[in-house]
Amino acid sequence: MVLGKEIKEWKEEFPIIEKMCNLEDVFWLNENLLSTEEVLKKSVISFDEIVDASERLERFSSYIEKVFPETKISKGIIESPLVKIDKMKNLLDVEGEVYLKCDSHLPISGSIKARGGIYEVLKFAEDVAIKSGKLKITDNYEILDSEDFRKIFSQYSIAVGSTGNLGLSIGIMGAKLGFKVTVHMSADARQWKKDMLRSKGVNVIEYKEDYSKAVEEGRKQASLDKNCHFIDDENSKTLFLGYTVAALRLKKQLEEKNIVITKENPLFVYLPCGVGGGPGGVMFGLKSIFGDSVHCFFAEPTHSPCMTLGLATKLHDKVCVQDFGIDNKTAADGLAVGRASSFVGRCVENIVSGSYTLSDEQMYIYLAQMADLENIYLEPSALAGVKGIELIEKDKVGESYLKAHNIKKENITHIAWATGGNMVPRDIMNEYVNKGKELLK
Ligand SMILES: *Cc1c(COP(=O)(O)O)cnc(C)c1O
Repeated sequence: MVLGKEIKEWKEEFPIIEKMCNLEDVFWLNENLLSTEEVLKKSVISFDEIVDASERLERFSSYIEKVFPETKISKGIIESPLVKIDKMKNLLDVEGEVYLKCDSHLPISGSIKARGGIYEVLKFAEDVAIKSGKLKITDNYEILDSEDFRKIFSQYSIAVGSTGNLGLSIGIMGAKLGFKVTVHMSADARQWKKDMLRSKGVNVIEYKEDYSKAVEEGRKQASLDKNCHFIDDENSKTLFLGYTVAALRLKKQLEEKNIVITKENPLFVYLPCGVGGGPGGVMFGLKSIFGDSVHCFFAEPTHSPCMTLGLATKLHDKVCVQDFGIDNKTAADGLAVGRASSFVGRCVENIVSGSYTLSDEQMYIYLAQMADLENIYLEPSALAGVKGIELIEKDKVGESYLKAHNIKKENITHIAWATGGNMVPRDIMNEYVNKGKELLK
């Protein structure tokens, strides 16, 4: 029984649940898609807040540049390249142009979490520093790199629950500023991520259970300490805002490449989805800028389709994949989430175009192909977006979507959002690539 109904009844009401239970690939289109303008008018997040987040990141840029020298070339702005991947396009055999947004190569923590996670740490640091009376927002934030400020920050702690990458971004940034950081890691988190954090003085607590448990315990422990800021991946608006800024940056990158986005020449963006904050935030930003000319899809592993389940049933966080006997076991550790964020689900339910699932094997196959053809090395989660390109152009559900929106394939600019990979140790990356090659045989 789930929420008073037999699983059998659920499957009758929502045939997609039957497929998800069988771990089949699904492709769900959103029938509740509304005009972007209408939705944004009523939204709890305004465009001004996105701009405010962007300005906060700019205030921190001099500090970031100083303490993370790898950001020197971008003047302390944490951003990733947008890369045209023609060889993949040929392999996928599609008509639209194909790009990869390489958040895998974001400085500092090598994943999309370098957007939201780092942003929330910086926001907290700014609040603390301003409250101390030693920082004004007009100051050069380089001064935060000092014993004075590290001493102030050391009186506070930051905690987070994570499948790995969020912990990495918050741990690295928090420890650098001088905070005490505790990361509650789910069972699926990779050993090297825990080792790396411990080497930076971060307190890592490991759980035998999955992400939801790690978050729950983290939240509970943090609530006992009034100087502890808990970064709540399931509910945080601040985290979400950090992700939205990606859209302002992407707009510029598209302009630099002379790519003009219109209704007839739309942008299609495919975002790997765990709890939903990263993809939801990026999408929200993109919708705020490009409106109905951008079409966004979430990508999930067949073993962890929490967002698809929440959206299709409109029950969001009221249901989890385990309720339906789906095990939430996947090699795509960034996506190993059984229950979606309710905040994000409700925020995106009328603007996300759809959601789909793919197998871990398919992610490994794309991983090997991307490495071989484009020389770009990604972690399994980061490949989930690639499948969307094929689905939209070559699957009958995708074709029906294009027809309904009167879109010609050759006019599409596809972006697969590559969400992580650059920090994966070389030997582990070689294992990933070999696994994909084996599957291709
Ligand atoms: C966290 C993560 C995602 C998804 O972000 P959510 O906010 O959990 O939805 C996707 N890919 C990778 C590599 C991640 O680490």
